[in-house]
Formats: sequence, C-alpha cells, structure tokens
Amino acid sequence: LWQDCLSQLQDQISSTHFTTWLRPLQADVADENMLVLYASNRFVKDWVESHYLVQITKLAQQLTQNADFVVKILEGIKPEKKAPVSIQVESVATDIVIMPEVQSPHASNLNSKHIFDNFVEGKSNRLARAAAEKVAKSPGEQSSNPLFLYGGTGLGKTHLLHAVGNSILSQKANARVVYIHAERFMQEYVKALKSDRMENFKKLYRTLDALLIDDIQFFAGKDGTQEEFFHIFNSLFESGRQIILTSDRYPKEIEKIEDRLKSRFGWGLSIGIEPPDLETRVAILLKKAEEKNMLLPEEVAFFIGQKLRTNVRELEGALNRVHAYAEFTGKAITIDFVRDALKDMLALQDKLVTVENIQRVVAEYYRIKVADLKSKSRARSVARPRQLAMALAKELTNRSLPEIGRGFGDRDHTTVLHACKTIAKLREEDNNIQEDWSNLIRTLSA
Ligand code: ADP
Ligand code: MG
Repeated sequence: LWQDCLSQLQDQISSTHFTTWLRPLQADVADENMLVLYASNRFVKDWVESHYLVQITKLAQQLTQNADFVVKILEGIKPEKKAPVSIQVESVATDIVIMPEVQSPHASNLNSKHIFDNFVEGKSNRLARAAAEKVAKSPGEQSSNPLFLYGGTGLGKTHLLHAVGNSILSQKANARVVYIHAERFMQEYVKALKSDRMENFKKLYRTLDALLIDDIQFFAGKDGTQEEFFHIFNSLFESGRQIILTSDRYPKEIEKIEDRLKSRFGWGLSIGIEPPDLETRVAILLKKAEEKNMLLPEEVAFFIGQKLRTNVRELEGALNRVHAYAEFTGKAITIDFVRDALKDMLALQDKLVTVENIQRVVAEYYRIKVADLKSKSRARSVARPRQLAMALAKELTNRSLPEIGRGFGDRDHTTVLHACKTIAKLREEDNNIQEDWSNLIRTLSA
C-alpha cells in the first residue's frame, strides 16, 4: 500500500521534498484500517504530519477504498517483530494528533504539552480560557457544568480541554480524569457492546471526577452512543462531577443529536472561541517561535499573522515550515525569506482577500452598493460600513494605509487610520459592530 501511495505522491510533490520527507519513512501496516509510518525523529514526524498527512490519508483511503482508513506517523523505528500497537486516535483523519503511548483503560489520555501556560490569551479566546481555568480550579460546580466550548477548527478547543485535565491532575494527582475524542468514545462503546464488556464501560465512565469529550458533534446520528452518553452524563452530573465538551458549533445547532442531550449541553456554561485577531496571532507566533528557540523578528511575525488568519493550526504549520527552511538553508528569517518559504500558502491567501473582495462582501452584507463605499457620502448607513471595510482591509490584506485609501475613492491615509481606530473602539463598546466584524471576517476567510 505504502509503495502505491509513494508512487502517486512522487507525481504530486516536488522531488526534493519527496526525497527529504517521504522516501525515508518506514511503513508498517498495523491492521486493515491503519497504516503506520515511522519517522526518524520528532522533527520529521511533525513536518510530515503538518504537510502531508492529509494528502497521504486521502490517498490511502482511495487506494483501499476505505473511508475510515487512518494513517499514523510515529517517531522511531519500525518494530522488528510485529508487536501490537496501541494508539490513541485523538481525532479523525484530517485533524490528527497522535499519542503513541500504550494506554491502560484508565489512562487519562492527556497530552501534557497542552497547558494553560502555553495557551496565548487574546480577545477571541479570553472568556473560554477564563471559564476553563475556573473549572480546573473548582470542577463540578453547577454554574459551569457542563462547560461547553465551541468554535471553528484550529482555534484551541482541544488545547483548552487538555489544559483543564492537566491542571486538575496537577492539583490532585489521583483525580480520575479522562480525555477522549467523541469518535474514540463511540468506538469504545461499540467494542464494549460487541465483547460484552458494557458493565466495565459504564463503570469506568460513571465513576470519573472529570470527563472531557472532544468534538461532540461526532455523536450525530449515533443513537446508541447518545443513549449511553445520556446516562453517563446524568450520573456524573448528579454526583457533581465535571463534564466538559467541545464542538464545532453551538449546542442547539448540532444536528442529529437528541434534544434531551442538546438541552443538557446548555445547562452549564457555553462559550464560543473566535478566530484570533491580528495581535493575538502575532503573540501566538512569537510564543511558539520562542518555544522552538527560533529567531523570529517581530515584523516577520506580523507579516505572517497578517497573511494567515483563519486558525492557529495553520499558523503553526506555517511557522514549522519557516523553521525547517531556515534550518536547511542556514539563512536568517526575514520577510523575503518567509515569502519564499510560504509561497504556495500565501499565493492562496492573496488571491482570496483583496480590497475589492472586501468591498464586495461588505456592500452585500449591508445591502449597499460598492460605489457607495467609494463615494463621498457621509450618510451613516454608508459611512460606518465604509469604515468597517477599511479596517477589514487593514486587518486582512497586506496593503498599506495609502493604498487602502486609494481603493476607497482616493481617500487620505489618515482617513483610513481614523477608520481603523474607530472600528477598534466600537468593537469594544458595541456588540452589534463586534458581531458584524466577526461575521464579515468569517465570510471573507471561508
Ligand atoms: P481545535 O481543537 O479548536 O481544532 P486545537 O486545540 O487542536 O484546535 O489547536 C490547534 C493548534 O493550535 C494546537 O497545536 C494548539 O496548541 C494551538 N493553539 C490554538 N490556540 C492557541 C493559543 N491561544 N495559544 C497557543 N496555541 C494555540
Ligand atoms: Mg480539536
């Protein structure tokens, strides 16, 4: 299978990358549903994971005609004898973090790298983080049970979930805490059913101090799992144990989940995480660079943060790539260097978000004309959207203030600056503006 994958990948990937990253991997078919690839070190593993895992997984799924086929990248050498590999699948194919430890049934599955200390706080995640910290300090309190964190992909939900678990354990080493991805929970449930071990399953989950279930939207349409989880939920809740759930959307909006569960999801505290704003993106980049001992000048962090806006995972991927290029070439990290290292990623971004594009989307959103945005009209119904469009252009594109001004009917750069400041202030004070801003960013980043 791996040979087949390789020969196809060879055509899809530049030959230097192919020989550097893919060729040296050692393959081991773990079972009919899983291919394990061994990378010689952590660095190669991370690189392959962030750049090629999705592609490899898709290929393998095509070749095996098995949509559930998963590919794991592990650090190390392929075992001589075929020892059974036990792997915690934290997530589904396109969204994979791997913990290659052998787990006992009571393992917490917590990833010790995800803690509060390395979670960068910004406006977009402040509430979620505060709630998570509160729950970690006093788990089980009714006002925040369950804690339900929702938001788009790559915004830090899983990170916060682990952070709570790790924090609870650091205060009370013998606390029974389990982190589990919803898909994995489902698989365990099915396995328990088949092998007549339901009693163990129930007992394990109903006697926890804290149960952390990630990506609960995966329960959609799985009636048996939902039923079982309903009872687990009730049992934990009634005895004052903490439940934390994450999802890619607001509880009420999850489809194919029983109403009685959905309503329970909303009993405690539901908090959304938004995509980070520019400042936070830059802070995250600088923090991650520091962790890697990487010399990342602030202006370069700013450049990357301006270009890549949708999620933190993408930022991390970019940073990893820049790091790798820098190590290979021995060059200093400058804006030009980054432009080159991230060429394909940036080309895509530039194409997507232009000043014209922003004007079109903003005009549509407020049901006005693009021409109004460029006009001299000071009518409120036009002036406010115009200011928003300017601020968005500053946030989302790499255009300078004078360039943006020119795009709006030849206005002065001070007008643009004023618009940015006004909008920044309004977003703090006026929920409607903040909401419009988030909606527009979301539309433009889609
Ligand atoms: P989600 O579960 O919401 O899809 P993750 O928690 O997996 O997102 O986050 C994706 C990556 O980004 C992880 O490596 C995580 O550590 C990192 N990350 C996300 N938000 C932050 C943050 N605020 N500070 C530091 N790292 C973050
Ligand atoms: Mg996640």
